[in-house]
Amino acid sequence: MRLSRYFLPVLKENPSEAQIVSHRYMLRAGMIKQSAAGIYSWLPLGFKVLKKIEGIVHEEQMRAGHIPMLMSTMQPADLWRESGRYDDYGQEMLRIKDRHDRDMLFGPTNEEMITDIFRNHVSSYKDLPLTMYQVQWKFRDEIRPRFGVMRGREFYMKDGYNFDLSKEDALHAYNRHLVSYLRTYERMGLQAIPMRADGGPIGGDYTHEFLVLAETGESEVFYDSAVTDLTFGDREIDYDSVEQCQGVLEEFTSKYARTDETHDEALFNEIPEDRRRVARGIEVGQIFYFGTKYSEAMGAKVQTPDGEVPVHMGSHGIGVSRLLGAIIEASHDDKGIIWPEGVTPFHCGIVNLKQGDEAADGACEDLYKALVAAGLDPLYDDRNERAGGKFATMDLIGLPWRITVGPRGLKNGVVELTSRRTGESEELAPEAAVAKIIEIYANHRTPQGF
Ligand code: ATP
Ligand code: MG
Repeated sequence: MRLSRYFLPVLKENPSEAQIVSHRYMLRAGMIKQSAAGIYSWLPLGFKVLKKIEGIVHEEQMRAGHIPMLMSTMQPADLWRESGRYDDYGQEMLRIKDRHDRDMLFGPTNEEMITDIFRNHVSSYKDLPLTMYQVQWKFRDEIRPRFGVMRGREFYMKDGYNFDLSKEDALHAYNRHLVSYLRTYERMGLQAIPMRADGGPIGGDYTHEFLVLAETGESEVFYDSAVTDLTFGDREIDYDSVEQCQGVLEEFTSKYARTDETHDEALFNEIPEDRRRVARGIEVGQIFYFGTKYSEAMGAKVQTPDGEVPVHMGSHGIGVSRLLGAIIEASHDDKGIIWPEGVTPFHCGIVNLKQGDEAADGACEDLYKALVAAGLDPLYDDRNERAGGKFATMDLIGLPWRITVGPRGLKNGVVELTSRRTGESEELAPEAAVAKIIEIYANHRTPQGF
């Protein structure tokens, strides 16, 4: 993309409504525009990152054997009357009447709708196990929408649902989700710690939340610092293996890590004092096993050789739009965002220090074309602007790599490659800079961009 043709409405001033850094930078970098409290339009740069995050979520869900689908955002109230949640859900549910005076709602979550789909089409135990998921807009009329996309009213969520014959099978699905979530967050450059959580309105005895440590997080968390040494890395895992998935769950949940809802002071005090940590975290996902709660209420049963039984279910969510905020909270400096390679909107920036200079223009064009030919997505700042302004924009929007091209360097046959994270630069021949960027992204396969 050439910046002169892009839509990147950056703000010079700090927007006064933004209380935390991620919200401030998302507004300043022209990523989002608020339409109403807690409701946002996604401008091109924000949309690009949102889709990268969504892409990673899809890849990792499909790798775990989960089937993508898409349910409607609007739901009939009657489904929720069957489960008993229509009255329980309270004011967070946006209730709407259609022209025939029928009660509708904008889905805050989809357990009822997926259970309805299941009971209509599945009747034999031979069709189990089954896990389907979607990435879809949700609406929750939060009492205090704030912090930009972190606590929106309209937000983008991955929600998945498993149907299993037995509790044992459903717990395998639970473990499989835990593993796939660990991989998902790590690919986004995040460490998200699974923590024992509270069932809440969805209910259930088995539930873990995934928290990213950040001072601005809304949850208070208590943990053994040894959990932060755990990384999933690039280990191979067989998602069908009960033992392997169970093993990963045990490895990642054996150390104390809880939110304030489930915190147990006595257990916490058993951790050696120098490893006890009290901090704040951002909830970026949650997994549940809730047994036959919905299947019994809504008649989702399968025929087995021993008769008809209700299916065991679980649900699992990832806060896709909230993740943009969480990643920025975890990765920024005073100049702007620092995107991890896995989710960056553009793979690298090209800054032309002297637009109009024949050599500089030509070298930039060549770099741009070589990167595009390699399947990469560079952002070329080809505007007639001062170098300082171009650097400030690149730093703000946070591309992890920048190639700077100027007539002086070109006389010596070099351009400059700079890491946004470390600020370190090296001088390289243009071809070598391209080769280096290609090599970096060979290790950070990113989903197709928009
Ligand atoms: P919270 O406790 O933050 O209100 P929740 O536990 O009610 O969230 P879940 O039903 O577990 O949310 O939804 C799955 C994920 O969706 C959450 O882990 C979170 O990352 C994200 N999410 C939930 N509510 C919002 C919101 N209002 N804005 C943005 N993301 C949200
Ligand atoms: Mg939750």
